[in-house]
Amino acid sequence: MLLEKRVFDNRRPILSIVVPCYNEAEVLSHTHARLSRVLEGLAGVECERIYVDDGSTDGTWEAIDRLARQSDAVRAVKLSRNFGHQSACLAGLRESSGDAVIVIDADLQDPPELIPEMVALWWDGWSVVSARRRSRAGESLFKKASAYVFYRTLSLMSDHPLALDTGDFRLLDREVVALLGQMPDKNVYLRGAVSWFGLPETGVTYDRASRYSGESKYTLRKMLDLSRRGLLAHSSVPLRLPAYLGTAALAGGLARAAVRRDPRLLAGPGAFGAQALALGIMGEYLRAVLRQVQGRPHYVVERRVGMISPVPRLEE
Ligand code: UDP
Ligand code: MG
Repeated sequence: MLLEKRVFDNRRPILSIVVPCYNEAEVLSHTHARLSRVLEGLAGVECERIYVDDGSTDGTWEAIDRLARQSDAVRAVKLSRNFGHQSACLAGLRESSGDAVIVIDADLQDPPELIPEMVALWWDGWSVVSARRRSRAGESLFKKASAYVFYRTLSLMSDHPLALDTGDFRLLDREVVALLGQMPDKNVYLRGAVSWFGLPETGVTYDRASRYSGESKYTLRKMLDLSRRGLLAHSSVPLRLPAYLGTAALAGGLARAAVRRDPRLLAGPGAFGAQALALGIMGEYLRAVLRQVQGRPHYVVERRVGMISPVPRLEE
């Protein structure tokens, strides 16, 4: 890969750190302190932090509002309700002004200590630096197994290459953030969209720690929603599946009817199942189309605290 080292004449580049937070009041002060230690040691860049409160109900907003009032380099964004992790990340990306932006979880499962290494690779010219999970501590067998199977299945079914075993802990160059901001997709699956751009991407690997405190905010429902987003946005295999299944069911029915010389065997549970599945899959895509046509914003910002960003904000 032909890369050019980044040069910034007459100014220090800005690094934005985006932290989506949903009911993370218990852990926020630790996250903030650990991030501060890492960012203070980072030479050659100006840092800003953007905490996005995704409709928390546990005092998270009060905590980040306080942090933003204490420092010019910290901003707080409050979404009007819980819009979900992907929308909260997108909100943070759009609010950010950095030449490079890193999205990191609030619960310290993503170690802030990786940031300098990620920034160094960005200086080298990479547009995307993903953090790959080598292992995942403190997560249930179900979560680990479902993630393992999901990422591999999605990658097989995807219309373009996708990075395996990565969440949204990654560094994005401003160019990528701008592209994400311009995407009209209402069904966002950030990690997939970033791979789709196909800009120079590299990775660092890490061992994922357990949550610092509290429980996972990714309920089964939210995990299913994330998988659905990934599939709908990056694979058309499910849409074609009914045609394959239908053909198989029909062929099976025909064969049975021919062997037993009984045309009634053409119908049956197989054919019904294939039809029901086909309808269900059509329904999912129809829902995605409906969302797109409705054209609602991904989220609504209720309040902002902190300096106004020097770079114009992208439209919501
Ligand atoms: N999160 C969010 N909105 C949600 C759910 C989660 O902003 O609706 C945030 C959460 O606060 C955390 C990150 O997304 O910073 C990842 O969530 P979590 O740690 O619960 O997921 P897990 O690591 O268990 O997959
Ligand atoms: Mg977590």
